[in-house]
Amino acid sequence: MFTDFTKLRCVSGKGGNGVISWLRAKYLPKGGPCGGNGGKGGSIIIKASKDIHCLQHLRGKNLISAEKGRDGGSNNKTGRTGRDKTVLVPTGTIIINAETEEILADLTQAGQTLHIAEGGKGGLGNTCFKTATNRAPRKCTPGKPGGEVFISLEMKMIADVGFVGLPNAGKSTLMKALTATDVKIGNYPFTTLKPNLSYLEYDDYSRVYLADIPGIIKDAHLDRGLGLAFLKHIERSKALVYIVDIAPLGEEGKLISDPIQDYAILKNELREHNEQLLERPSIIVLNKCELEGADEHIKAFKKAFPNEKAEIVIISAKESKGTEELSQKIKLLAQIDGKRYE
Ligand code: GDP
Ligand code: MG
Repeated sequence: MFTDFTKLRCVSGKGGNGVISWLRAKYLPKGGPCGGNGGKGGSIIIKASKDIHCLQHLRGKNLISAEKGRDGGSNNKTGRTGRDKTVLVPTGTIIINAETEEILADLTQAGQTLHIAEGGKGGLGNTCFKTATNRAPRKCTPGKPGGEVFISLEMKMIADVGFVGLPNAGKSTLMKALTATDVKIGNYPFTTLKPNLSYLEYDDYSRVYLADIPGIIKDAHLDRGLGLAFLKHIERSKALVYIVDIAPLGEEGKLISDPIQDYAILKNELREHNEQLLERPSIIVLNKCELEGADEHIKAFKKAFPNEKAEIVIISAKESKGTEELSQKIKLLAQIDGKRYE
């Protein structure tokens, strides 16, 4: 299972106690106080890593706790500090306080960290309480408790280009067809139900990362089908490639849906989810152009959207027609502006 959401209770370590102790030596019968301080408790740190691709490893792990600090010792020895616990998450994970719903951090860079719960301070030993008037203080303090934070972790995938289309538009076939061109495609090892992150690598070794999102369906924004969970993943793409089946034929070769309407559904789902998605640089790919009647639908489609800023590219993923040109256009599209969407 691909996991892009999970909750965790993070408890940092308690500080060690300060202690009371007296210095005793043969010729020093009243050597004074020598109780050491307690060590600080371990903290919980969340760190973004580019080597981790989902939150699967944290599933079912309800509690993460760090080590406590050790108590102080005699001879003014400070107790050992509790070890910190570092939780690795994929780059692009948002950390939210599950109780207040406040966003605590958005870890967009590999290596970025968030100290989620600081370890408790160690208590003071009796040495600390020695004064001019009280040379033998019988006082020490306990370590402070660790902090506790209940968080939600939510992962947003970071791809340069998001592929969006209704089911059966030909997204998977197109991904495969692109492998047959000069570009290399690498697949990240996600399991079954998943948005696929792949990349195209060009002659100049530049790469474009693609997210192939399982088909959007009407009312996806209301969380129908795979709905919202997957729409979330394309929010950070710099650019979008809409894939439309230009001749959706049923069993008997009859048109079963209207490409113009299909494209309108796609845009509407994106708009309902996040209006800004429609502003992203994009390409409209009309697929299955080799099928009978496709030319007519292509003409009608162009007529229906005369003011689209997006370029319309006509291909047949199945017969690898137009896919080479498309891969170059995708490269240009990903370079339009360098910014990433947060
Ligand atoms: P996805 O759901 O968008 O990933 O769609 P798929 O890639 O799984 O394709 C759905 C169906 O359309 C499959 O039966 C494909 O063989 C078919 N298909 C995809 N591209 C083409 C094409 O260019 N021409 C034709 N005739 N069929 C295609
Ligand atoms: Mg598919």
